[in-house]
Amino acid sequence: MKFSQRAFFNTNGATQQKLFWFYSRYSPVRGIRIKVFPSLNGFLRGFRLLRVLVLIPLALAACQAFSPTPLPTASPLLPDSSPTPASLPLSTPPAVTPTATNPMTFLLPTPGAEPVTAWRPPLYPSPWAPTLYDHFYFARPIAADEVNWPLPNYRYGGILEGRSAHTGIDISAPYGTEVLAAGQGTVIWSGWGFSSGDPANKDDPLGKSIVIRHDFGYRDQPLFTIYAHLSETEAVLGQWVNTGGLIGYIGETGLTTGPHLHFEVRVGTNGFFATRNPELWLVPPQGWGILVAHVMDTAKETLNSYAILLHSEATGETLPARTYGPGTIIPDPYYNENLVLSDLPAGLYRIQIPFAGLNYETGIQILPGQVTFISFQGFLGFDPTPPATPVNEYFLTPAP
Ligand SMILES: [Zn+2]
Repeated sequence: MKFSQRAFFNTNGATQQKLFWFYSRYSPVRGIRIKVFPSLNGFLRGFRLLRVLVLIPLALAACQAFSPTPLPTASPLLPDSSPTPASLPLSTPPAVTPTATNPMTFLLPTPGAEPVTAWRPPLYPSPWAPTLYDHFYFARPIAADEVNWPLPNYRYGGILEGRSAHTGIDISAPYGTEVLAAGQGTVIWSGWGFSSGDPANKDDPLGKSIVIRHDFGYRDQPLFTIYAHLSETEAVLGQWVNTGGLIGYIGETGLTTGPHLHFEVRVGTNGFFATRNPELWLVPPQGWGILVAHVMDTAKETLNSYAILLHSEATGETLPARTYGPGTIIPDPYYNENLVLSDLPAGLYRIQIPFAGLNYETGIQILPGQVTFISFQGFLGFDPTPPATPVNEYFLTPAP
């Protein structure tokens, strides 16, 4: 079961049969397609256009004082033959011939392509926890009439040149945009100097910040959220704020050259070494889901800052992403993930991971409001089996 129709573990009934037929028909190697792009030039042409469309606004976005670690460039080893399909509609799937004996260098586009339209449905109610292992407890810290999702090319665990891994997410917003409490709680820091603990330190890399200790916890541990680079703080020390309450305004104080919000979630202690991926804590838009992955080599060693591609079957759009970089990054205790992509419209996707000169690929389904988990283990390929159920009572504590 490990490498077969389980790729569609989240589907049901007729849908599952249809999907299994499609992917079993075109997945001749143990349910996994290992193929070589038939046309690297076609592949590149698509991404050149994407670069033009997305790089200009992204260059102006937040936390752009430094360029993200560039993805590797490589020379194609195969001649141009036929166009690479942008997507694989179920009705007319192209024939796929496994060419595992003909290795090539995997070619990746420049990061930054927005995977989806600049629109989001309303959020699910908060807290949102469809399973025991979910903890989407927080509302968006930016209102829905603005961009309120993470910059795709500098997520949690992202690496900028010469810097440690990103301990939060960045949300780009115009200067002066209202910043809202992601959940109810008490303000325990307001103003300069949060990183250093010195309110007089105006050189603090986080600039003016708000920190909230929430009224609810997670598995008996306190929860904190951090809102940094503010132009002004509105909430004051000791103030109780409700979810959605105004706490400050978008700015560019601290170590940044563009207005944006740096947002962190901390579990247990309010420390730099207690962060989690906020994309596992922010309530998703209705009808949208979350991909969680653990990408490893064959020996089960986690692959850091490893490039992957996610293709939407519905739109043909491609989202380049990277796994967590090394550093003070803490995976979720249940998923032990090193990649989270939230805000994905429900539907069929293909995930591609290059490994040892081959391109591993499988189909996945993103379900509304839910996590889709998949692991990758080098030559053993993909495995959609969810993580094992913990045996202790830790995970049986009810949600807030
Ligand atoms: Zn940041």
